[in-house]
Amino acid sequence: MFRAVVALSVLALTGASKSYTEDAVLRIIPRTESEVALLREDLPVAVPTSWWREPSYPAQYVDAHFSGSNLKQAQALLDNAGFSYTTLIDDVQKAIDASYEPPSQLFTVSNDVEFDYSKYHSLEEISDWMVTLEKTYPDLVSLVDVGKSFEGRTIKAVKFTGASSNSTATKAGLWLDGGIHAREWVSPATNVYVLGHLLDAYGKDDETTKLIDGLEWYILPVFNVDGYSYTWAEDGDRMWRKTRSTTSSKLCTGVDPNRNWDMHWGEAGTSKNPCADDFQGKSAFSEIEVSSVASFIQSQKNINGYVNFHSYSQLWMSPWGYTDNLPETEDYNKQNDVSEAAAAAIKAIHGSEFEFGPISKTIYPASGSSADWTYGVCGILYSYGVELRDTGAYGFLLPEDQIVPSGEEILPAVKVLAHAVLEAGFPDRK
Ligand SMILES: [Zn+2]
Repeated sequence: MFRAVVALSVLALTGASKSYTEDAVLRIIPRTESEVALLREDLPVAVPTSWWREPSYPAQYVDAHFSGSNLKQAQALLDNAGFSYTTLIDDVQKAIDASYEPPSQLFTVSNDVEFDYSKYHSLEEISDWMVTLEKTYPDLVSLVDVGKSFEGRTIKAVKFTGASSNSTATKAGLWLDGGIHAREWVSPATNVYVLGHLLDAYGKDDETTKLIDGLEWYILPVFNVDGYSYTWAEDGDRMWRKTRSTTSSKLCTGVDPNRNWDMHWGEAGTSKNPCADDFQGKSAFSEIEVSSVASFIQSQKNINGYVNFHSYSQLWMSPWGYTDNLPETEDYNKQNDVSEAAAAAIKAIHGSEFEFGPISKTIYPASGSSADWTYGVCGILYSYGVELRDTGAYGFLLPEDQIVPSGEEILPAVKVLAHAVLEAGFPDRK
C-alpha cells in the first residue's frame, strides 16, 4: 500500500501533460443574432475554437479558448468582422498552474475525517475520504455504489439520514451531484464541502439536524469519474469535459454527459459530431455513467430535489433547458421561488450574485440535460442545474482559495432547497 501511495504521488506531482502554454481565452460579446450565429457557426470552421462559454443570445458573453498558434488568426477574424472582445486569460497553462498546488501525497490519513477542504482532490482522495465518513458516522452514513463507469471505476454516492427517525419509508429525498463535466473542479470540491459540513453539524446545529433527520440525502461528489480522473492524469488533459467512452470517430473520445439524458435528447444545443465538446452520444443514455445514475434516481421514489452542479457563470437554473416554454405555472412558481431564495442565501454570505431562471433563458438552450430529465421524466419537482463560481476571471481554473468561499455560500442555498423538499413531504412521483 505504501509503495502504491508513493508511486501515485510522483504521478500527481508531474501534473497533466497536455500543455496549454500561450493559449488564450477571449471574451466576446455579440451584439446581434447574426453575430451570435457568426460565432457559433462560422468561427469554429475558420479557426479551431474551444468554447468555455458558448454563444447563446445577443449581449450574453461568450468565452472562447484558442491555441497559441491560432490566436492571432482568431483575433484578426474577429477584428475584421467588427467584434468587440477582451482577453480573459492570456496564458491558459499559467492559469492552470496557478489554480492549484498538486498534492504532495494523494491519500490523506484514514480513520478520521481530517480533510483539507481548501484543496482540489483527486478521485482517489475523495473516495478514500468517503470511506472515512462511513466509519465516522456509522449511524448516519452509508455508501452507495451507483454503477461502474466506461473504464470500470465505481460511481460512489454518500447516502445519509438521521438516526433518530428510522421510518425512512416516509422521508422525502434529495440528490446533489458534482463533476458531471470533468474540468469543472470546483463542483466536486463544493459537493465535498457541503457533504462534510452537513455531517459535521449534525447534532450540533438544530437546523442541520432537522434537515438530516427529516430527509434522505444523496450526494455524488464526482459523477463523471473517468473524465475527472483524466483531468488529473499524467497523460491527461486538465481541460477535458466529456466522458471517456469510444465513439464512432477514431479521432475523438467521449460524450457530453449532460446532453445524453433521455428527455428531448438530440434537440437544441447539442452536437452530433463526436469531436464536439457537447456531443450528444449515439443514443440517449448511451453513457453508462448517465444511465446508471438515472436508473438509481428513478428507482428512489422519495427523491424530490435534484441539483446538478457545474461551473462557471454563477447561475441557479430550473427547467426547461430544451425549450423556451415554461413548466406548468404551479410547478414553475415553486421552482422559481426556491431559485430566488437560494440566490439570496448565496448573496448573503460573500455577496456573490447568482442569476436565476429557466436553463434555456438563463444560459443557453440545452437538450438532453439532467434537470430536464429528473423533472420531466421522474417528476422531481425541485430539479436544478447550478453553475458555481466564477463569472470568467478564472473560469474553469478557479484558484483553490475560492473553494471554501464557494462551499460557504452554497451550503445555505442547499438548505433552502432542503427545507422546500421537506415541506413538500413525500412526493407523488412518476
Ligand atoms: Zn458543466
